[in-house]
Amino acid sequence: MGSLNGKIALITGAARGIGQAIALRLAGEGADLVLCDLNQEWLEETATKARALGRRVECASVDVSNADSVQKGVAALTEQFGRIDVLVNNAGITKDQFLLRMSEADWDAVLDVNLKGTFLFTKVVAKQMLKQKAGAIVNIASIIGLIGNAGQCNYAASKAGVIALTKSAARELASRGIRVNAVAPGFIQTAMTDKLTADVKEAMLRNIPLNTLGTPENVADAVHFLASDAASYITGQVITVDGGMVMS
Ligand code: NAP
Repeated sequence: MGSLNGKIALITGAARGIGQAIALRLAGEGADLVLCDLNQEWLEETATKARALGRRVECASVDVSNADSVQKGVAALTEQFGRIDVLVNNAGITKDQFLLRMSEADWDAVLDVNLKGTFLFTKVVAKQMLKQKAGAIVNIASIIGLIGNAGQCNYAASKAGVIALTKSAARELASRGIRVNAVAPGFIQTAMTDKLTADVKEAMLRNIPLNTLGTPENVADAVHFLASDAASYITGQVITVDGGMVMS
């Protein structure tokens, strides 16, 4: 018996990286999946692997930063499954540049996907969860939203916003049986961090007490915990998955 047997989990940005690892972890625990990403075809790899675990999987092309796209995508998928028990707001982007050189377009793009996308999905899915009087929402933030980072003002602001949104939504929705938590990954090996130079990676490694980069599966483990009934008395919290980089 998996800890998520009979549950329906919706994951955004599930085509690759951390989103794919989360989808497969939740599927391995018995959840059927609703997968969203910019391009439906790119979700096929994740969907095929999850179906091989015996799960039902539906995919949709949704731009998390576009209210109309989110509304239509979630409506169609909810109709097929009838309910959504777990929402994981994972889709995210970076457009790094030092503050004085950062364009307004790059600021807007990162805030639109990372923060507005989380707001739009949370709003639409929470409506369904309110009817069910139950649900678990897990937002993927970042330790950069806690400590900041030179060259990432837009990204840091978006992830700090995700943390504040998590805590506020947790307070609003707790009385209706809906828990909202965040996972703040540190330096995880994915396409997003492959872009960093060897120097930056080496410097980061020096600041990780556990002396190794994280894996998407490390993040997926924390998401699974927060999505499951094992976390039934936990809401409004941020779990860092960072090898000890940030200790509060
Ligand atoms: P990734 O490999 O770049 O994957 C992100 C996924 O989100 C991609 O499939 C991407 O599609 C999708 N996406 C981007 N914009 C979207 C939009 N507007 N609508 C729908 N889907 C969209 O990134 P990752 O490293 O797995 O990161 C996943 C999450 O973890 C992000 O929120 C990120 O900020 C967070 N995080 C990552 C790290 C890390 O070290 N990797 C650390 C802290 C936090 P495309 O293929 O089209 O881009």
